[in-house]
Amino acid sequence: MQTPLLSPHVLIAGGGIGGLSAGIACAQKGLTVRLYERSTPVGDVGAGIQLGPNVTRILDAWGVLPRLAQQACEPERLVARAMASGRVLGEVPLRGRAREKYGAPYVTVHRGDLHAALFSHLGALADSADVFVHAGTAVTGLVQASTDDVGLQLDNGQIVQGDAVVGADGLWSAVRGLAWNDGSPTATGHVAYRASVAMGDLPKALRAMDVTVWLGPRAHVVHYPIRGGQTMNIVVIAEGVPVVDRESWENRVRSQTVHEALGTCCAALSELMAAVPMASASGDSGWRAWQLFDRAPVQSGDALVRDRVVLLGDAAHPMRPYLAQGAAMAIEDAQGLSYALAGDVSGVTQRLSNYADTRWQRCARVQATARRNGDVFHASGLTRLGRDAAMWAMGRRLMDPAWLYGYAM
Ligand SMILES: Cc1cc2nc3c(=O)[nH]c(=O)nc-3n(C[C@H](O)[C@H](O)[C@H](O)COP(=O)(O)OP(=O)(O)OC[C@H]3O[C@@H](n4cnc5c(N)ncnc54)[C@H](O)[C@@H]3O)c2cc1C
Repeated sequence: MQTPLLSPHVLIAGGGIGGLSAGIACAQKGLTVRLYERSTPVGDVGAGIQLGPNVTRILDAWGVLPRLAQQACEPERLVARAMASGRVLGEVPLRGRAREKYGAPYVTVHRGDLHAALFSHLGALADSADVFVHAGTAVTGLVQASTDDVGLQLDNGQIVQGDAVVGADGLWSAVRGLAWNDGSPTATGHVAYRASVAMGDLPKALRAMDVTVWLGPRAHVVHYPIRGGQTMNIVVIAEGVPVVDRESWENRVRSQTVHEALGTCCAALSELMAAVPMASASGDSGWRAWQLFDRAPVQSGDALVRDRVVLLGDAAHPMRPYLAQGAAMAIEDAQGLSYALAGDVSGVTQRLSNYADTRWQRCARVQATARRNGDVFHASGLTRLGRDAAMWAMGRRLMDPAWLYGYAM
């Protein structure tokens, strides 16, 4: 009698949204998972995150969405407004419509809550699957990366062997550097400032359960509810402003810097901005800044796979946040990878290559659309007039991209 072949043994570098998702998807397909995350405890910083139906559908299938029931919000509408006049440029219903049209909700959630839900779900899977998460362990090298073998060098001196290495270690990916050595991501010249305000501290008129986007020349603002509707998450993105420590998401900045970056605002937006504490007793404004980087859209499957090493999420295709799909693509990648690897250890390199073939064009399209959206959001002069007219005429179609949300894996 033949011994059955073992399922692939997957080594994941990075325990952010993409790495944890890959761990869950692969474990649910019966693969052996070893995940290495440099931080201790495995945690997450940052602001809110929007999750379209293309990704809530996957989170639901994994059993993660119910874990977010208390914290996730389902906004009523997506509304685009002009920053200077406050005029509504276009709107599209979200709640109800997303479920009806795409079979899954559109939700907004704090990144920390999403991260915690993924982490606890992976932990629960470890009871029945062969999964181990090594926190406080950085990946420092790739060993024997070839068609036959692959392994990781860890900062504790250990070398671990597996059938596939997944580089889910984010924008400044060590795995990408080691296997592709193709340079650093590009600074976009855009800076994101984020703050959150207790909903009760906002003027009543601003407590909407909507995703609102305010568009102005060289800047825009997005805000939406998180934490079960108790908190409003606010992100300001501006061009041509002072840059900050490139790897940190926690650079402190003065309120005045953010207000100056934004320029002229209508009364309603000024009120929202004024609701962020100017300074606490410690002098901290409540605003945090981080620089935005991206890479050109991926050109082929070779950008995602090399022998037994694959990339996913920001390590593979970092993008501007103007389509709110970076984490979503990491989660889709994770699902795609698990489909490709499900089964036994035979033909792993071919199956990793299939993963790359099925993912690269979609990720490239999302990267390119995000870049284009940035230009459209920040338009001035005649381009702005054209944008406003188009939003008026075709707002629903532009703000509800079926190719993106209706994608089924
Ligand atoms: C302003 C802004 C708003 C955004 N809004 C949205 C949104 O609304 N919706 C959306 O879908 N996306 C959004 N994104 C994008 C999203 O945040 C990212 O695309 C997503 O977090 C990428 O996940 P990741 O797991 O690939 O990388 P990361 O989240 O960066 O995780 C990488 C992990 O790897 C670990 N790591 C790094 N190096 C090593 C190493 N050598 N060894 C071990 N571990 C290592 C890190 O500690 C980290 O935990 C936004 C981004 C920005 C900047």
